[in-house]
Amino acid sequence: MPPVATGRCYLRSSMSFSHLGLSNEIIRAVTELGYTKPTPIQMQAIPAVLSGRDLLAGAQTGTGKTASFTLPLLQKLSSDKSVKSTSNEYSPIRALILTPTRELAAQVELSVREYGKYLKLNTMAMFGGVSINPQKRLLKGRVDILVATPGRLLDHVQQGTVNLSQIEFLVLDEADRMLDMGFIRDIRRILSLLPKHRQNLLFFATFSDKIKALATGLLDRPEIIEVARRNITADTVTQKVYKVDHDRKCQLLVNLIRQNNWYQVLVFTRTKYGADRLVRQLTQERIQALAIHGNKSQSARTHALAKFKNDSLQVLVATDIAARGLDISELPHVVNYDLPYVPEDYVHRIGRTGRAGASGKAVSFVCVDEYHLLADIEKLIEQQLPFEVVTGFGGNSHTQPEQISDERKHRPKRSKRPARTAKPLPQTSAKQSARRTVTSGKKSDARSGASRH
Ligand code: AMP
Repeated sequence: MPPVATGRCYLRSSMSFSHLGLSNEIIRAVTELGYTKPTPIQMQAIPAVLSGRDLLAGAQTGTGKTASFTLPLLQKLSSDKSVKSTSNEYSPIRALILTPTRELAAQVELSVREYGKYLKLNTMAMFGGVSINPQKRLLKGRVDILVATPGRLLDHVQQGTVNLSQIEFLVLDEADRMLDMGFIRDIRRILSLLPKHRQNLLFFATFSDKIKALATGLLDRPEIIEVARRNITADTVTQKVYKVDHDRKCQLLVNLIRQNNWYQVLVFTRTKYGADRLVRQLTQERIQALAIHGNKSQSARTHALAKFKNDSLQVLVATDIAARGLDISELPHVVNYDLPYVPEDYVHRIGRTGRAGASGKAVSFVCVDEYHLLADIEKLIEQQLPFEVVTGFGGNSHTQPEQISDERKHRPKRSKRPARTAKPLPQTSAKQSARRTVTSGKKSDARSGASRH
Protein backbone atom coordinates (compact mmCIF):
# COMPACT_ATOMS: atom_id res chain seq x y z
CA MET A 1 0.00 0.00 0.00
CA PRO A 2 2.26 2.81 -1.17
CA PRO A 3 1.32 6.14 0.39
CA VAL A 4 0.04 8.68 -2.08
CA ALA A 5 -0.31 12.43 -1.95
CA THR A 6 -2.73 13.50 0.73
CA GLY A 7 -5.55 15.95 0.22
CA ARG A 8 -3.97 18.67 2.32
CA CYS A 9 -4.02 21.09 -0.60
CA TYR A 10 -7.79 21.24 -0.11
CA LEU A 11 -7.34 22.77 3.31
CA ARG A 12 -8.45 26.37 3.14
CA SER A 13 -10.12 27.87 6.14
CA SER A 14 -12.49 29.90 3.94
CA MET A 15 -13.68 26.82 2.07
CA SER A 16 -17.42 26.20 2.07
CA PHE A 17 -19.45 23.09 1.30
CA SER A 18 -20.27 24.44 -2.17
CA HIS A 19 -16.53 24.51 -3.04
CA LEU A 20 -16.43 20.77 -2.47
CA GLY A 21 -18.70 19.96 -5.39
CA LEU A 22 -21.73 18.87 -3.39
CA SER A 23 -25.25 19.25 -4.75
CA ASN A 24 -27.67 21.94 -3.61
CA GLU A 25 -29.85 19.33 -1.91
CA ILE A 26 -26.96 18.18 0.27
CA ILE A 27 -25.79 21.70 1.03
CA ARG A 28 -29.32 22.67 1.99
CA ALA A 29 -29.52 19.75 4.43
CA VAL A 30 -26.21 20.50 6.15
CA THR A 31 -26.98 24.21 6.28
CA GLU A 32 -30.24 23.42 8.06
CA LEU A 33 -28.21 21.45 10.58
CA GLY A 34 -26.21 24.59 11.26
CA TYR A 35 -22.99 23.54 9.53
CA THR A 36 -21.43 26.67 8.07
CA LYS A 37 -18.17 25.24 6.82
CA PRO A 38 -16.59 21.83 6.43
CA THR A 39 -14.37 20.47 9.19
CA PRO A 40 -10.77 19.53 8.29
CA ILE A 41 -11.58 15.85 7.73
CA GLN A 42 -14.49 16.86 5.51
CA MET A 43 -12.32 19.24 3.48
CA GLN A 44 -9.93 16.40 2.75
CA ALA A 45 -12.14 13.35 2.53
CA ILE A 46 -15.04 14.73 0.45
CA PRO A 47 -13.00 15.53 -2.69
CA ALA A 48 -11.07 12.27 -2.33
CA VAL A 49 -14.23 10.17 -2.17
CA LEU A 50 -15.86 12.11 -4.99
CA SER A 51 -12.81 11.40 -7.15
CA GLY A 52 -13.47 7.68 -6.74
CA ARG A 53 -10.35 6.91 -4.70
CA ASP A 54 -10.15 4.44 -1.86
CA LEU A 55 -9.57 6.18 1.45
CA LEU A 56 -7.65 5.44 4.62
CA ALA A 57 -8.65 8.07 7.13
CA GLY A 58 -7.55 8.63 10.70
CA ALA A 59 -10.21 10.66 12.46
CA GLN A 60 -11.91 10.36 15.78
CA THR A 61 -15.50 10.78 16.76
CA GLY A 62 -16.28 14.45 17.07
CA THR A 63 -14.25 15.55 14.05
CA GLY A 64 -17.21 15.41 11.66
CA LYS A 65 -16.02 12.11 10.17
CA THR A 66 -19.55 10.76 9.55
CA ALA A 67 -20.39 13.59 7.17
CA SER A 68 -16.94 13.27 5.59
CA PHE A 69 -17.88 9.91 4.10
CA THR A 70 -21.68 10.26 4.00
CA LEU A 71 -21.89 13.50 2.02
CA PRO A 72 -19.79 12.33 -0.94
CA LEU A 73 -21.52 8.93 -0.87
CA LEU A 74 -24.90 10.63 -1.08
CA GLN A 75 -23.60 12.81 -3.87
CA LYS A 76 -22.34 9.85 -5.87
CA LEU A 77 -25.40 7.69 -5.29
CA SER A 78 -27.86 10.46 -6.12
CA SER A 79 -26.08 11.72 -9.21
CA ASP A 80 -26.70 8.38 -10.88
CA LYS A 81 -29.90 8.97 -12.89
CA SER A 82 -31.08 5.37 -12.40
CA VAL A 83 -31.81 5.93 -8.72
CA LYS A 84 -33.94 9.05 -9.03
CA SER A 85 -37.20 7.14 -9.01
CA THR A 86 -39.33 7.24 -5.88
CA SER A 87 -40.71 3.78 -6.42
CA ASN A 88 -40.39 1.18 -3.73
CA GLU A 89 -39.67 -1.67 -6.11
CA TYR A 90 -36.64 -3.82 -5.40
CA SER A 91 -33.33 -2.22 -6.19
CA PRO A 92 -29.99 -3.43 -4.93
CA ILE A 93 -28.16 -2.14 -1.89
CA ARG A 94 -25.38 0.06 -3.26
CA ALA A 95 -23.56 1.27 -0.17
CA LEU A 96 -22.68 -0.66 2.98
CA ILE A 97 -21.47 1.12 6.11
CA LEU A 98 -20.19 -1.23 8.82
CA THR A 99 -19.93 -0.02 12.42
CA PRO A 100 -18.77 -1.76 15.59
CA THR A 101 -21.83 -1.09 17.76
CA ARG A 102 -25.57 -0.81 17.59
CA GLU A 103 -25.49 2.74 18.89
CA LEU A 104 -23.05 3.85 16.25
CA ALA A 105 -25.06 2.10 13.51
CA ALA A 106 -28.22 3.87 14.66
CA GLN A 107 -26.41 7.19 14.93
CA VAL A 108 -24.75 6.94 11.53
CA GLU A 109 -27.99 5.91 9.85
CA LEU A 110 -29.73 8.89 11.41
CA SER A 111 -27.01 11.19 10.08
CA VAL A 112 -27.27 9.62 6.61
CA ARG A 113 -31.01 10.25 6.68
CA GLU A 114 -30.57 13.84 7.84
CA TYR A 115 -27.88 14.66 5.28
CA GLY A 116 -29.90 12.97 2.55
CA LYS A 117 -33.32 14.35 3.46
CA TYR A 118 -33.69 16.16 0.12
CA LEU A 119 -32.56 13.17 -1.92
CA LYS A 120 -34.54 10.16 -3.04
CA LEU A 121 -32.41 7.52 -1.39
CA ASN A 122 -33.52 4.93 1.13
CA THR A 123 -31.43 4.04 4.16
CA MET A 124 -31.66 1.30 6.73
CA ALA A 125 -30.00 0.57 10.07
CA MET A 126 -29.40 -3.10 10.88
CA PHE A 127 -28.15 -4.32 14.25
CA GLY A 128 -28.71 -7.06 16.79
CA GLY A 129 -30.53 -6.90 20.11
CA VAL A 130 -33.84 -6.23 18.33
CA SER A 131 -36.18 -8.50 16.40
CA ILE A 132 -34.89 -9.53 12.98
CA ASN A 133 -38.33 -9.67 11.33
CA PRO A 134 -38.94 -5.95 10.80
CA GLN A 135 -35.46 -5.82 9.25
CA LYS A 136 -36.39 -8.63 6.86
CA ARG A 137 -39.49 -6.70 5.84
CA LEU A 138 -37.47 -3.54 5.19
CA LEU A 139 -34.99 -5.50 3.09
CA LYS A 140 -37.81 -6.60 0.80
CA GLY A 141 -38.30 -2.96 -0.15
CA ARG A 142 -35.78 -0.59 -1.53
CA VAL A 143 -32.58 0.06 0.43
CA ASP A 144 -29.83 2.11 -1.18
CA ILE A 145 -27.61 2.58 1.88
CA LEU A 146 -27.32 -0.04 4.59
CA VAL A 147 -25.69 0.79 7.94
CA ALA A 148 -25.02 -2.44 9.81
CA THR A 149 -23.12 -4.13 12.58
CA PRO A 150 -21.24 -7.20 11.32
CA GLY A 151 -22.98 -9.85 13.44
CA ARG A 152 -26.56 -9.07 12.47
CA LEU A 153 -25.57 -8.55 8.84
CA LEU A 154 -24.16 -12.08 8.80
CA ASP A 155 -27.39 -13.38 10.38
CA HIS A 156 -29.24 -11.95 7.39
CA VAL A 157 -26.68 -13.39 5.01
CA GLN A 158 -27.18 -16.80 6.57
CA GLN A 159 -30.94 -16.54 6.23
CA GLY A 160 -30.65 -15.33 2.66
CA THR A 161 -32.49 -12.10 3.43
CA VAL A 162 -29.84 -9.64 2.27
CA ASN A 163 -28.11 -9.35 -1.08
CA LEU A 164 -24.68 -7.75 -1.05
CA SER A 165 -23.76 -8.57 -4.62
CA GLN A 166 -24.30 -5.05 -5.95
CA ILE A 167 -22.38 -3.05 -3.33
CA GLU A 168 -20.46 -0.20 -4.94
CA PHE A 169 -19.26 1.52 -1.78
CA LEU A 170 -18.00 0.03 1.44
CA VAL A 171 -17.27 2.09 4.56
CA LEU A 172 -15.64 0.58 7.64
CA ASP A 173 -16.34 3.11 10.37
CA GLU A 174 -14.21 2.90 13.53
CA ALA A 175 -12.40 -0.05 12.02
CA ASP A 176 -9.90 -0.16 14.88
CA ARG A 177 -12.79 -0.65 17.29
CA MET A 178 -14.19 -3.45 15.18
CA LEU A 179 -10.82 -5.19 15.26
CA ASP A 180 -10.49 -4.64 19.04
CA MET A 181 -13.92 -6.18 19.48
CA GLY A 182 -12.87 -9.27 17.58
CA PHE A 183 -14.85 -8.70 14.38
CA ILE A 184 -12.03 -9.48 11.96
CA ARG A 185 -13.43 -12.87 10.90
CA ASP A 186 -16.88 -11.37 10.38
CA ILE A 187 -15.40 -8.54 8.35
CA ARG A 188 -13.43 -10.93 6.18
CA ARG A 189 -16.53 -13.04 5.61
CA ILE A 190 -18.53 -9.96 4.61
CA LEU A 191 -15.75 -8.77 2.29
CA SER A 192 -15.84 -12.14 0.53
CA LEU A 193 -19.50 -11.55 -0.33
CA LEU A 194 -18.98 -8.15 -1.97
CA PRO A 195 -18.23 -7.50 -5.63
CA LYS A 196 -14.51 -7.11 -6.33
CA HIS A 197 -14.93 -3.75 -8.02
CA ARG A 198 -16.01 -1.18 -5.45
CA GLN A 199 -14.81 1.91 -3.58
CA ASN A 200 -13.57 1.30 -0.05
CA LEU A 201 -13.33 3.82 2.76
CA LEU A 202 -11.63 2.80 5.99
CA PHE A 203 -11.91 5.06 9.03
CA PHE A 204 -10.00 4.49 12.23
CA ALA A 205 -9.17 6.47 15.37
CA THR A 206 -5.85 4.87 16.23
CA PHE A 207 -3.47 3.38 13.70
CA SER A 208 -2.06 -0.06 14.49
CA ASP A 209 -0.46 -3.01 12.76
CA LYS A 210 -3.90 -4.64 12.59
CA ILE A 211 -5.32 -1.64 10.75
CA LYS A 212 -2.33 -1.64 8.45
CA ALA A 213 -2.89 -5.33 7.62
CA LEU A 214 -6.59 -4.77 7.00
CA ALA A 215 -5.92 -1.72 4.82
CA THR A 216 -3.26 -3.52 2.80
CA GLY A 217 -5.66 -6.28 1.82
CA LEU A 218 -8.64 -4.02 1.29
CA LEU A 219 -7.59 -0.73 -0.23
CA ASP A 220 -6.30 0.03 -3.69
CA ARG A 221 -3.78 2.93 -3.74
CA PRO A 222 -5.78 4.83 -1.13
CA GLU A 223 -5.71 8.49 -0.40
CA ILE A 224 -4.37 8.70 3.14
CA ILE A 225 -5.73 11.34 5.44
CA GLU A 226 -5.14 11.96 9.09
CA VAL A 227 -6.68 14.91 10.84
CA ALA A 228 -5.24 16.33 14.01
CA ARG A 229 -6.08 14.07 16.90
CA ARG A 230 -8.65 15.52 19.23
CA ASN A 231 -6.43 14.80 22.16
CA ILE A 232 -3.84 17.20 20.85
CA THR A 233 -6.10 19.89 19.49
CA ALA A 234 -9.07 19.58 21.82
CA ASP A 235 -8.81 23.11 23.08
CA THR A 236 -12.59 23.17 23.42
CA VAL A 237 -12.42 20.55 26.20
CA THR A 238 -11.19 21.60 29.63
CA GLN A 239 -9.63 18.58 31.30
CA LYS A 240 -9.07 18.18 35.01
CA VAL A 241 -8.08 15.39 37.37
CA TYR A 242 -9.41 15.01 40.92
CA LYS A 243 -7.28 12.88 43.20
CA VAL A 244 -9.77 11.10 45.38
CA ASP A 245 -10.08 7.99 47.52
CA HIS A 246 -11.87 5.21 45.71
CA ASP A 247 -14.71 4.99 48.20
CA ARG A 248 -15.24 8.78 48.14
CA LYS A 249 -15.73 9.01 44.39
CA CYS A 250 -19.51 8.84 44.49
CA GLN A 251 -19.76 11.60 47.08
CA LEU A 252 -17.39 13.77 45.08
CA LEU A 253 -19.56 13.27 42.00
CA VAL A 254 -22.68 14.16 43.98
CA ASN A 255 -20.99 17.30 45.30
CA LEU A 256 -19.79 18.41 41.89
CA ILE A 257 -23.21 17.86 40.34
CA ARG A 258 -24.98 19.75 43.12
CA GLN A 259 -22.52 22.59 43.59
CA ASN A 260 -22.16 23.31 39.88
CA ASN A 261 -25.73 22.51 38.87
CA TRP A 262 -24.56 20.04 36.26
CA TYR A 263 -27.65 19.04 34.36
CA GLN A 264 -26.34 16.69 31.67
CA VAL A 265 -23.44 14.53 32.76
CA LEU A 266 -22.07 11.49 30.98
CA VAL A 267 -20.20 9.33 33.50
CA PHE A 268 -17.88 6.52 32.46
CA THR A 269 -17.21 3.45 34.54
CA ARG A 270 -14.96 0.58 33.56
CA THR A 271 -17.46 -2.15 34.32
CA LYS A 272 -21.15 -2.89 33.91
CA TYR A 273 -21.27 -3.75 37.59
CA GLY A 274 -19.69 -0.42 38.50
CA ALA A 275 -22.20 1.41 36.28
CA ASP A 276 -25.19 -0.25 37.95
CA ARG A 277 -23.80 0.34 41.43
CA LEU A 278 -23.22 4.02 40.72
CA VAL A 279 -26.76 4.42 39.37
CA ARG A 280 -28.10 2.91 42.60
CA GLN A 281 -25.97 5.25 44.71
CA LEU A 282 -26.96 8.35 42.73
CA THR A 283 -30.61 7.38 42.88
CA GLN A 284 -30.33 7.13 46.67
CA GLU A 285 -28.97 10.67 46.58
CA ARG A 286 -32.04 11.69 44.55
CA ILE A 287 -30.02 12.35 41.44
CA GLN A 288 -31.71 10.90 38.40
CA ALA A 289 -29.41 8.42 36.70
CA LEU A 290 -29.61 5.48 34.29
CA ALA A 291 -26.95 3.17 32.94
CA ILE A 292 -26.25 1.90 29.45
CA HIS A 293 -24.05 -1.13 28.99
CA GLY A 294 -23.94 -4.50 27.27
CA ASN A 295 -26.29 -6.24 29.72
CA LYS A 296 -29.09 -3.76 29.07
CA SER A 297 -31.64 -4.49 26.39
CA GLN A 298 -31.60 -2.38 23.28
CA SER A 299 -34.89 -0.76 24.26
CA ALA A 300 -33.53 0.13 27.73
CA ARG A 301 -30.47 1.71 26.14
CA THR A 302 -32.54 3.62 23.60
CA HIS A 303 -34.89 4.81 26.33
CA ALA A 304 -32.02 6.01 28.56
CA LEU A 305 -30.30 7.76 25.70
CA ALA A 306 -33.48 9.47 24.53
CA LYS A 307 -34.17 10.78 28.05
CA PHE A 308 -30.60 11.97 28.39
CA LYS A 309 -30.68 13.72 25.03
CA ASN A 310 -33.90 15.57 25.76
CA ASP A 311 -32.60 16.75 29.15
CA SER A 312 -35.03 14.71 31.24
CA LEU A 313 -32.22 12.56 32.65
CA GLN A 314 -29.44 14.26 34.58
CA VAL A 315 -26.80 11.54 34.60
CA LEU A 316 -26.11 8.79 32.09
CA VAL A 317 -23.62 6.19 33.30
CA ALA A 318 -21.95 4.25 30.51
CA THR A 319 -19.23 1.71 29.87
CA ASP A 320 -16.80 2.40 27.06
CA ILE A 321 -18.24 -0.05 24.59
CA ALA A 322 -21.82 1.07 25.17
CA ALA A 323 -20.91 4.70 24.72
CA ARG A 324 -19.23 4.19 21.37
CA GLY A 325 -20.94 6.25 18.77
CA LEU A 326 -23.10 8.24 21.15
CA ASP A 327 -23.69 11.60 19.62
CA ILE A 328 -25.12 14.12 22.01
CA SER A 329 -24.82 17.64 20.75
CA GLU A 330 -23.18 20.11 23.10
CA LEU A 331 -22.70 17.62 25.90
CA PRO A 332 -21.25 19.84 28.62
CA HIS A 333 -19.75 17.35 31.11
CA VAL A 334 -17.95 14.06 30.90
CA VAL A 335 -16.79 12.37 34.10
CA ASN A 336 -14.26 9.56 34.09
CA TYR A 337 -15.43 7.92 37.29
CA ASP A 338 -12.83 5.23 36.70
CA LEU A 339 -9.93 5.68 34.35
CA PRO A 340 -9.98 3.28 31.42
CA TYR A 341 -7.41 0.49 31.19
CA VAL A 342 -6.84 1.35 27.55
CA PRO A 343 -5.53 4.93 27.32
CA GLU A 344 -7.08 5.47 23.88
CA ASP A 345 -10.49 5.05 25.52
CA TYR A 346 -9.82 8.24 27.47
CA VAL A 347 -9.60 10.12 24.19
CA HIS A 348 -12.80 8.50 22.94
CA ARG A 349 -14.53 9.39 26.20
CA ILE A 350 -13.61 13.04 26.30
CA GLY A 351 -14.41 13.29 22.59
CA ARG A 352 -18.06 13.15 23.67
CA THR A 353 -17.87 16.72 24.86
CA GLY A 354 -16.55 19.87 23.24
CA ARG A 355 -17.80 18.74 19.85
CA ALA A 356 -17.84 20.84 16.75
CA GLY A 357 -16.64 23.93 18.55
CA ALA A 358 -18.88 23.77 21.65
CA SER A 359 -16.97 23.96 24.91
CA GLY A 360 -17.00 21.09 27.36
CA LYS A 361 -15.48 19.86 30.58
CA ALA A 362 -13.95 16.45 31.19
CA VAL A 363 -13.04 15.53 34.75
CA SER A 364 -11.35 12.35 35.88
CA PHE A 365 -11.51 10.81 39.34
CA VAL A 366 -8.22 9.15 40.06
CA CYS A 367 -7.55 7.02 43.12
CA VAL A 368 -4.14 5.89 44.18
CA ASP A 369 -4.35 2.62 42.26
CA GLU A 370 -5.06 4.46 39.04
CA TYR A 371 -1.98 6.67 38.91
CA HIS A 372 -0.29 4.36 36.45
CA LEU A 373 -3.34 4.54 34.19
CA LEU A 374 -3.17 8.33 34.38
CA ALA A 375 0.51 8.20 33.46
CA ASP A 376 -0.35 6.07 30.40
CA ILE A 377 -3.04 8.54 29.33
CA GLU A 378 -0.77 11.54 29.73
CA LYS A 379 1.88 9.77 27.70
CA LEU A 380 -0.60 9.11 24.92
CA ILE A 381 -2.02 12.61 24.81
CA GLU A 382 1.40 14.16 25.34
CA GLN A 383 -0.03 16.43 27.92
CA GLN A 384 0.09 16.69 31.69
CA LEU A 385 -3.40 17.07 33.11
CA PRO A 386 -3.98 19.62 35.85
CA PHE A 387 -5.09 18.02 39.07
CA GLU A 388 -6.77 19.01 42.29
CA VAL A 389 -7.12 17.40 45.69
CA VAL A 390 -10.49 18.29 47.21
CA THR A 391 -10.40 18.70 50.97
CA GLY A 392 -12.11 15.81 52.68
CA PHE A 393 -11.88 13.47 49.72
CA GLY A 394 -8.45 11.99 50.35
CA GLY A 395 -6.30 11.38 47.32
CA ASN A 396 -3.09 11.93 49.24
CA SER A 397 -0.07 9.77 49.77
CA HIS A 398 -1.53 8.09 52.84
CA THR A 399 -4.37 6.63 50.88
CA GLN A 400 -4.40 2.87 50.89
CA PRO A 401 -4.43 1.14 47.55
CA GLU A 402 -7.81 -0.57 47.43
CA GLN A 403 -10.95 -1.63 45.62
CA ILE A 404 -9.65 -1.49 42.11
CA SER A 405 -8.77 -5.19 42.25
CA ASP A 406 -12.41 -5.96 43.13
CA GLU A 407 -13.49 -4.10 40.03
CA ARG A 408 -11.21 -6.22 37.90
CA LYS A 409 -13.29 -9.26 38.76
CA HIS A 410 -16.04 -7.67 36.74
CA ARG A 411 -13.99 -6.86 33.67
CA PRO A 412 -15.37 -8.44 30.51
CA LYS A 413 -13.29 -11.56 29.91
CA ARG A 414 -13.00 -11.18 26.17
CA SER A 415 -11.30 -7.77 26.30
CA LYS A 416 -7.76 -8.24 25.15
CA ARG A 417 -5.67 -5.27 25.88
CA PRO A 418 -4.72 -3.59 22.62
CA ALA A 419 -1.34 -2.02 21.98
CA ARG A 420 -0.87 1.00 24.17
CA THR A 421 0.98 3.23 21.83
CA ALA A 422 -0.75 4.91 18.95
CA LYS A 423 1.30 4.43 15.83
CA PRO A 424 1.37 7.26 13.34
CA LEU A 425 0.41 6.79 9.74
CA PRO A 426 3.37 6.01 7.52
CA GLN A 427 3.62 9.31 5.72
CA THR A 428 2.89 11.50 8.73
CA SER A 429 5.59 10.09 10.93
CA ALA A 430 7.87 13.05 10.32
CA LYS A 431 5.17 15.47 11.36
CA GLN A 432 4.34 13.44 14.40
CA SER A 433 7.91 13.17 15.55
CA ALA A 434 8.28 16.93 15.07
CA ARG A 435 5.28 17.43 17.31
CA ARG A 436 6.76 15.15 19.92
CA THR A 437 9.95 17.17 19.90
CA VAL A 438 8.05 20.40 20.42
CA THR A 439 5.94 19.11 23.27
CA SER A 440 8.53 17.00 25.01
CA GLY A 441 9.74 20.00 26.96
CA LYS A 442 6.39 20.19 28.74
CA LYS A 443 6.75 16.80 30.28
CA SER A 444 8.54 16.01 33.46
CA ASP A 445 10.90 13.06 33.39
CA ALA A 446 9.25 11.23 36.23
CA ARG A 447 5.82 10.36 34.94
CA SER A 448 5.21 7.54 37.34
CA GLY A 449 2.16 7.58 39.54
CA ALA A 450 4.38 7.94 42.55
CA SER A 451 5.50 11.37 41.42
CA ARG A 452 1.98 12.67 41.91
CA HIS A 453 1.53 11.75 45.54
P1 AMP B 1 -18.85 12.95 14.05
O1 AMP B 1 -17.37 13.12 14.17
O2 AMP B 1 -19.28 12.49 12.72
O3 AMP B 1 -19.36 12.08 15.18
O4 AMP B 1 -19.53 14.40 14.26
C1 AMP B 1 -19.47 15.11 15.45
C2 AMP B 1 -20.50 16.19 15.55
O5 AMP B 1 -20.13 17.28 14.72
C3 AMP B 1 -21.91 15.79 15.17
O6 AMP B 1 -22.79 16.32 16.15
C4 AMP B 1 -22.15 16.49 13.84
O7 AMP B 1 -23.51 16.84 13.69
C5 AMP B 1 -21.27 17.71 13.96
N1 AMP B 1 -20.72 18.20 12.68
C6 AMP B 1 -20.28 17.46 11.64
N2 AMP B 1 -19.82 18.26 10.65
C7 AMP B 1 -19.97 19.53 11.06
C8 AMP B 1 -19.69 20.81 10.48
N3 AMP B 1 -19.13 20.91 9.28
N4 AMP B 1 -19.99 21.91 11.19
C9 AMP B 1 -20.55 21.80 12.42
N5 AMP B 1 -20.85 20.62 13.04
C10 AMP B 1 -20.56 19.50 12.37
